[in-house]
Amino acid sequence: MRVSQFFISTLKEAPSEAELPSHQLMMRAGYIKKLASGLYTWMPLGLRVLRKVENVVREEMDRSGGVELLMPAVQPAELWQETGRWEVFGPQMLKIRDRHDHQFCFGPTHEEVITDIARREIRSYRQLPINFYQIQTKFRDEVRPRFGVMRAREFVMKDAYSFHADFASLEQTYRVMYDTYTRIFTRLGLQFRAVAADTGAIGGSGSHEFHVLADSGEDALAFCPDSDYAANVELAEAVAPSTPRAPATQEMQKVITPGQKTIEEVAAFFDTSAQSVLKAIAVITHEGEFVLLLLRGDHQLNEIKASKVLGEFRFASDDDIHRNMNCRSGYIGPVNAKIRVLADRAAAAMSDFICGANEDGFHYSGVNFGRDVHLDEANVHDLRNVVEGDASPDGKGSLELCRGIEVGHIFQLRTKYSESLQATYLDENGKTQVMEMGCYGIGVSRIVAAAIEQNFDERGITLPAGMAPFQVAIAPIGIKKSEAVRNAAEQLYAELTKAGIEVLLDDRDERPGVMFADLELIGIPHRIVIGDRGLKEGNVEYQGRRDPAAQAVPLQDVAKLVQ
Ligand code: ATP
Ligand code: MG
Ligand code: MG
Ligand code: MG
Repeated sequence: MRVSQFFISTLKEAPSEAELPSHQLMMRAGYIKKLASGLYTWMPLGLRVLRKVENVVREEMDRSGGVELLMPAVQPAELWQETGRWEVFGPQMLKIRDRHDHQFCFGPTHEEVITDIARREIRSYRQLPINFYQIQTKFRDEVRPRFGVMRAREFVMKDAYSFHADFASLEQTYRVMYDTYTRIFTRLGLQFRAVAADTGAIGGSGSHEFHVLADSGEDALAFCPDSDYAANVELAEAVAPSTPRAPATQEMQKVITPGQKTIEEVAAFFDTSAQSVLKAIAVITHEGEFVLLLLRGDHQLNEIKASKVLGEFRFASDDDIHRNMNCRSGYIGPVNAKIRVLADRAAAAMSDFICGANEDGFHYSGVNFGRDVHLDEANVHDLRNVVEGDASPDGKGSLELCRGIEVGHIFQLRTKYSESLQATYLDENGKTQVMEMGCYGIGVSRIVAAAIEQNFDERGITLPAGMAPFQVAIAPIGIKKSEAVRNAAEQLYAELTKAGIEVLLDDRDERPGVMFADLELIGIPHRIVIGDRGLKEGNVEYQGRRDPAAQAVPLQDVAKLVQ
C-alpha cells in the first residue's frame, strides 16, 4: 500500500476525554474516529487491525468445529418476550419501533435468535451437537461508554452458541471452547488469564472469563499462584450508591440490601407479615439488577407491589416459575411442593455458584426455612473485600490480585433458553428432549484496545506483527528529488509485496521526522529508511519497532530480515 493512495490521519494530541493509553493512541494514530458517545468509525488503518483479530478468531473457531452464520442485528420483541428477557434485560437494550409500530431491539446478544433457529431446524439427536458462531455488531446502551472501543455502545463480538443432546456433550464443547480461547489469545500475543466468572444477564451455570492483564482493567481478579484457582472479584464499588442504576433497581436495592435488611423489613415492604415469609433469597448483580428472589408465604404476596420493585415481571403458570428459576430471575408467591423442589435446586445451584465458581459481586440475604433449604455460609467466599495474601478459597495457598480487561466469556447455559423457547429434539428412542446449550463470546473490537494497553511506548503503538496494520514500512528520504532513492524504494516495495508481506510505502515526500513519528505512532513492526547516503554503500537503515536504534543493512538482505 502506498500512503498516497491510502488514508492516514494522525493527531498530535489525543482528545482530553481519552484517559487510557489505548484510547489516546487509537485516536492519535487515526485507527478510530468518534461519531457520538460509544459510537466509533473504524478508519482504514484501524480496520486492518480489527480484521486481523477477526481472522484469528474465525480460523480458530473453524478449526474447533464452529459453523459460521450471520444473524440480523435487529430482533423482534416477541422472541425476547418468550424468554422473559424483554423486561429483564434492562436499559442496556436499545428498543426500537418500525413503521407498523412493531417493537424490536438492536441485539445486545443473540441467544433468542439462535435458539429460534435451533427449535425450527434441529429435529433429531443426529443433528447434535452443533456449534454456530457469528462475528457481528452488537449494541448495548452502556451506562458509561468510555475508553473508546473498550466500552463502546456499538461493538463487534464473536458469539457462538452450541446445542447438545446431553450435559456431557455440553461440557465437552465447553472445554473445547476454553482451549480454543486459550489458543486465540496466545496467537494474538496477549498476556491473559482465565477466571471463574459471573453469568450476568446471559444466565446459566458454569462460566469463565478471559482477561487481558492490564493495570487499567475494569475488573479485579484474584488468583492463587499455587493452584489453578482464579476468579473475577466483582468490585465492591460496583454496588456503591454512586453507581447510576435503573430506577426499579434502585428501589430494589433500597428494599433488599443484602446482609443488611431483616426479613421483617422485606416482609413489610411486601405488605405481609414476617411470619408468612419464611425464606427470602435475594441476589443482586453488581449492576444492581435483581436476579432471584424466593419468598415463602401463607398467602399470595402483593404482586403489584412486587412488580413495582422488580420492574415489569410476570408470574403466571408453573412453567413461568420454572423458567424464571432457571434464569435466576424471580418468583414471589406461596410455596407448594413443586416450588419446594425448584427452591432446592436454585439454592443448590446458588451455593455452588457462590462457593465454587462465582463470587463476583453476588450477595445474598438468606433467612432460614427452618427446614432443608439454606445457603451454607461456610461455603460463601465474599471476594469483594479480599486483600493480597488472603487464603485462597480452595485452601491451597494465598491469593494475589491483579486487574484485567474482559475479552472473552464462556457460559454453560444448560436449558435456560431451550426450555423457554421449546428447543427440543427426538432422542434415540423417539422421545422429546430439551437441548442443552452453551454460549461463548469474544469482544473482537475490545481486543484491539486491550492489546494496545499491553503494547505501547512513548512513541506510540507497538502491536505484535500478527495484529499490526502493516508489517513493514518503507520510508524513503527525498523520494521526489532522488531517482536512486525512488528506484530503490519502488523495487523493495515490489519485492516485499510479491513475497506476500504487507508493506506501507511512505511516498508522501514528508520530512523524515514527520514520517518516522507517524510510522512509529501507528505501530509498524519493521521500518526501512532509504536515503542517498546509505545507498552509495548499498545499504538502508533497518529498525524494529521495539529496537533502541537503527542499524545499516544491505538492501538485498531486507526481505530476509523482515520475513
Ligand atoms: P463487561 O463486563 O465488560 O460489561 P459483559 O460481561 O457485559 O462485559 P458479555 O455479555 O460477556 O459482556 O459479552 C461477551 C464479550 O463482549 C465480553 O467478554 C467483552 O469482551 C465484549 N463486550 C461486552 N460489552 C462490551 C462493550 N460495551 N464494548 C466492547 N466490548 C464489549
Ligand atoms: Mg456488560
Ligand atoms: Mg462482565
Ligand atoms: Mg461477560
